[in-house]
Amino acid sequence: MKTAFIVSTGTELLLGTTIDTNSIFLSKRLTELGIKVQGKIVVGDDSRDIKCAFETGLASADMVISSGGLGPTNDDLTKDMACEVMNCQAVLAAEELERIKDYFSKRGRPMPESNVKQAMFPPEAVILRNERGTAPGMYLKKDTRLVVLLPGPPHEMKSMYLKEVEPRLVAEFGLEETGYVSRIIKVFGPGESQLEVILGELMEKQQGYSMALTAKSGEIHIGIQVYGEDIRERQHKLEEITRKVRGKLGNNIFGVDEDTMLEITASSLKRQGKKIALAESCTGGLLAKMLTDLPGSSDYFWGGVTSYTNAAKQLLLGVKEETLNKYGAVSFETAEEMARGLVNIAGTDVGVSITGIAGPSGGSDDKPVGLVYIGVLCNGSYTVKELRFGGQRDMIRALAARTALDMVRRRLKAEEE
Ligand code: AMP
Ligand code: MG
Repeated sequence: MKTAFIVSTGTELLLGTTIDTNSIFLSKRLTELGIKVQGKIVVGDDSRDIKCAFETGLASADMVISSGGLGPTNDDLTKDMACEVMNCQAVLAAEELERIKDYFSKRGRPMPESNVKQAMFPPEAVILRNERGTAPGMYLKKDTRLVVLLPGPPHEMKSMYLKEVEPRLVAEFGLEETGYVSRIIKVFGPGESQLEVILGELMEKQQGYSMALTAKSGEIHIGIQVYGEDIRERQHKLEEITRKVRGKLGNNIFGVDEDTMLEITASSLKRQGKKIALAESCTGGLLAKMLTDLPGSSDYFWGGVTSYTNAAKQLLLGVKEETLNKYGAVSFETAEEMARGLVNIAGTDVGVSITGIAGPSGGSDDKPVGLVYIGVLCNGSYTVKELRFGGQRDMIRALAARTALDMVRRRLKAEEE
């Protein structure tokens, strides 16, 4: 597998005034092409640093692809340094000089002398056309080493890469048949480190594939990429790994790739022709908001009650005063009465209750901030969970709503099995 190293140049990238989006674009495209990105470096407009970055890149990868520093000014040093590292001498490329002069004359301006520098290239180099600016790029292959220089402005860089570089890389390295297939397996329930333990060897011995975990608002996404020359073989391998992951995680997996927890749950409700109602306390209607974010939610969403105070819980849901007095609003008992009262009124197949302490105040030793009870009543059978979430108010509320959704998803899944 061919490897690449990306070098982004520009002092502005180090000052935090410009975000290095070029290397993100290049990483993505190269990976999709079947070239492994070995590493990347961001350096300022400093000749020593740029040279060092190219040397480091070439020492660890088959090619270095850089962006930035191809302009006419004194701080544009990338080409000089690349030539030094590759041991090449730049000379004036007459045709290129004409093209740059032409660029200026079309705009009714004389070409500044400093721009001559942009027409200097080693004879071995392929000069890459820049359709969107003056700075040409460079594709220089010498022995087994390859450097590709692209301009800094993202629209120039992208168009040059796509038109001039990618086709050359494909031809140079016969990449038509290589590449990768990928899948994201989405999990809700176990935490990241727990997941790592469960996946065990699958994560440790990544041979011919890569597997990485990303945590996203309570979900964990397992990104799998399988590399290989043979399209059928890598697809087969991806299915095999997916099967193994499914075997280990079962119902903790809620979907793949573009699937969202919300859509998966909504489509189960629709498929089963069930209606759902909500009784939300600490989430204040957040779950109702989430469910109604999807168009067509009236097919399965009956409605919700934001029963925030004790009075609302009593009046709207029929929670008993003695239950509230004896066990408190945040308790197993109240969650259950909320869910049962709700379904009594709404007559839906599914009723969900959420009651908890979102903080920052209102917690105690017994019932700390983050304590949440979620009840799900589905076809007469009731399940409840006691959860202890960390984080700030927003986070606790979001996690409570998502966990409730996940509990509903699991119940509906069980009904289908
Ligand atoms: P340069 O070719 O180095 O003179 O870059 C010109 C402009 O392109 C800079 O001022 C930035 O606005 C932009 N630029 C350069 N490098 C990057 C990068 N890695 N990511 C995003 N924008 C960049
Ligand atoms: Mg620059």
